[in-house]
Amino acid sequence: MINFNYYQPTEIRFGSGRLNEIGKIAARYGQRCLLVTVPVFPELENTFNRAKRYLQEAGVEVAHFDQVIPNPTVEVVSEGAKLAKEFKAEVVIGLGGGSSMDTAKAIAVAATHPGTCWDYLFFRPTQPTEKTLPIIAVSTTSGTGSQVTQVAVVTNPAERNKSALFNSILYPRVAIVDPELMLSLPPQITATTGFDAFTHAFESYINPNGSPYTDLLALEAIRIIIQNLPEAMRNGSNLEVRSKLAWADTLAGLSIANAGVTLPHGIAMAMSGLYPHIPHGQALAAVYPAIMKFSWKYAQEKFAQLGWIFDPKLKDASLESAASAACQHLETFLKNIGLRKALKELGVPKEELGLLAERSLVLPDYKSHPYVVNLNEVKRLLEESYE
Ligand code: NAD
Repeated sequence: MINFNYYQPTEIRFGSGRLNEIGKIAARYGQRCLLVTVPVFPELENTFNRAKRYLQEAGVEVAHFDQVIPNPTVEVVSEGAKLAKEFKAEVVIGLGGGSSMDTAKAIAVAATHPGTCWDYLFFRPTQPTEKTLPIIAVSTTSGTGSQVTQVAVVTNPAERNKSALFNSILYPRVAIVDPELMLSLPPQITATTGFDAFTHAFESYINPNGSPYTDLLALEAIRIIIQNLPEAMRNGSNLEVRSKLAWADTLAGLSIANAGVTLPHGIAMAMSGLYPHIPHGQALAAVYPAIMKFSWKYAQEKFAQLGWIFDPKLKDASLESAASAACQHLETFLKNIGLRKALKELGVPKEELGLLAERSLVLPDYKSHPYVVNLNEVKRLLEESYE
C-alpha cells in the first residue's frame, strides 16, 4: 500500500426529503442567511419556496439572491456579495446545480474580503481566510460534486477565461443531497451533468494523485453512472435511479476533492471560458473520445477496469484489448446519451483551435494526465474532435 492523505470535512445529509432539514442546519451558523439560486422558474419554484419556509420556521431571516447564471461570472458573484454585505448575512446557502453552489462559495469569499472573487483564484498569493462565511450546499443536479468540494469555478467574460478558487475554507459545512430535487431535470441536463460526474470519477481514477481510497469511490461512481444514466434520461421521475445518480455524483465529488482531474478538464475549462454557451458536460463529451484513444496505452490497467465495467466479458480478453475496447464503449455510451457531438457542431470556430489549445494548458490539470501532452499534441486532439 502507498502512503496517502484523504480529507473531507463536509457533513453529508443524503436522502429523499432532506431539504426540510435546511432551517435547523442554517440556524447553527447564524440568524441571517443569503440564499443563492438561479432566477425562479417553474421546475424549481416549489423547491426555492420550501427552502425559504423551512429557514423562516427555524427563525432564520432570508435574503434571496436569484441572479445565478450557468457558468457564473465574477460580476454575478460581486452582485451577490453586495447583497450579502448589505443584509449582513452570516451564512450562505447555494441551492441548485454547480453554478449556484459555486456562486455561493465565491460570494462567501467576496463578501468578506477586499476586491473581487477573481483576486482569490487558486494560484494567487492572497488566499481566502477564516473570515469566509460558512457555506451550505444543496444540489439539484447530479453532476459537479460541488456540494463536497473545495472548488468554486468562476468565469471572467472580459478575459474570456474560466478559472477556480480552490481552498479548504470553501468546503461546504453541510451538503444536503436530496434526490427528490433532481426529479425535474430534463433529459439533456441529466445527460450533461451525469457525464460530468462520470469524468470526475474517471479522471480521479487515472490520476497519479489518486489513492486506494479515491479509487474505491471513483470506480463505484463509474459503475453506477454507466448502469443508470440512460434510464434517468428515459424516465426522469424514477426516484430510485435519481438517488443512485445523486450518490454517484457525491462519490465522484469526494474523489476529485482528493485526487483532482486531468487533461479533459483542462480543455473543457478553456472551452467554457472562450465559449460559455457550451454546457460543461457537453464540452467534456466533445473531446473525450479522442483523448481516450490517445491515452489508453499510458494507463492500460485502469482503462481495462473501465472496459470490464462496460462489458464483463472483457475480463477474458488481454489487458490491452480490454483497455482499447473501453474507448469504443465510451464512444457508444456518449452516442446513447446524445452527447457525441463534434466541436464544429458546438460552434467552436476552426480558426480558434490554436488559441483553445494554448488555453487548455493554462490550468495545471493536464499535468496529472497519465501522459503529459505538449501544445502540438493537444492541438491535434482538438482537430480530431472538430468534425
Ligand atoms: P448548472 O448549475 O449550470 O445548471 C444547468 C441548468 O440546469 C440551469 O439552467 C439550471 O437552472 C438547471 N437546473 C438545475 N437544477 C435543476 C432541476 N432540478 N430541474 C430543472 N432544471 C434544473 O449546471 P451544473 O452542471 O450543475 O453546474 C455547472 C457549473 O459547475 C460549471 O460552471 C462548472 O464549471 C462547475 N463545476 C464545479 C465543480 C466544483 O467542484 N465546484 C465541479 C465541476 C463543475
